[in-house]
Amino acid sequence: GREIRLAARPVGEPKPSDFEIASVEVPEPEQGQVLVRNVVLSVDPYMRGRMSEAKSYAESYRVGEVMWGGAVGSVLKSTVDGFEPGDFVLHNLGWREYAVVDTAQARKVDPSVAPLSAYVGILGMTGLTAYVGVVDIASLKPGDHVFVSGAAGAVGSAAGQIARLRGAARVIGSAGSAEKVRYLKEELGFDEAFNYKDGPVADQLRAAAPDGVDLYFDNVGGDHLEAAIGAMNRYGRVAMCGAISQYNSTSAPPGPRNLGKVVGWRLRLQGYIVSDHYDRMRDFIAEAGEWVRTGQLKYAETIVEGIENAPEAFMDMLSGKNTGKMIVSL
Ligand code: NDP
Repeated sequence: GREIRLAARPVGEPKPSDFEIASVEVPEPEQGQVLVRNVVLSVDPYMRGRMSEAKSYAESYRVGEVMWGGAVGSVLKSTVDGFEPGDFVLHNLGWREYAVVDTAQARKVDPSVAPLSAYVGILGMTGLTAYVGVVDIASLKPGDHVFVSGAAGAVGSAAGQIARLRGAARVIGSAGSAEKVRYLKEELGFDEAFNYKDGPVADQLRAAAPDGVDLYFDNVGGDHLEAAIGAMNRYGRVAMCGAISQYNSTSAPPGPRNLGKVVGWRLRLQGYIVSDHYDRMRDFIAEAGEWVRTGQLKYAETIVEGIENAPEAFMDMLSGKNTGKMIVSL
């Protein structure tokens, strides 16, 4: 089976030579384990953090190590009751064709309930991130005017729609192309959207949010965060989910230069990591499962075929070639 390893720690944007593909023997499962053939791999922004040596919430990959991450595999061999060949399991040993998985670290998933890719996306980590950020971290209130950056991506597109479904009065999104802006307005029902590459975010946000912003869902950081703070109404709340504009930075990131406003306007800015919030998965699935089933919560996927193309899929995701969740299908 083939696997993708970290070959070198990227400086700035990851490049093909930072990855290597290797062939290894298919391993045998021991007691408590299953052998799976992966069918769906998730490539996520947090993996850029793991490729670097800098200390963060996510443990660094070692150079030469497989770039593990979320995946769904089909069971080929099992030593565990309740896990049979043909079952599908969600686990964390992605970026390889075959994996030996401890069933204690895996969850069975049902392809008749949702497509397998949904379990790493809209009904998995991605969707939960959006839900927890909107509902718990930023305490969405009915009538809120909401701004989401990275809005055409996996988390952002879910966050904007969840805010609307939970009673937001106005949902505004930013994204990096005219086609993504069209997608947000015409297909996902965002009230307003803009391309952040067209001009200063602060100016475009002011025009899109004439009554200000009560809740900002931040996927981007930097100028987006500064613009959102500038547009914020009293008692505004920010879910600080990610800062993707800075993941490839080689120098100290800019601002926000207007943090002083937080005091007088009684703003609340809170960071969070979804892995602390899996106790909310049950509530999330109960609510969002129905929204997905009825088509109220839409999701897009950008699918790349083949393990050998996983590095490119990852690099393409970081540079915005995806709409919705970037998935590698094997
Ligand atoms: P996305 O599907 O949103 O893909 C990443 C997107 O980021 C790209 O499509 C691109 O879209 C955008 N982007 C890249 N560079 C920039 C830039 N310089 N400025 C603005 N936008 C940029 O990925 P995810 O949905 O998986 O993740 C979105 C965010 O959520 C990330 O910040 C991620 O780290 C965070 N996250 C946080 C979690 C947590 O627990 N806190 C869990 C999961 C994700 P465009 O074309 O619009 O530029």
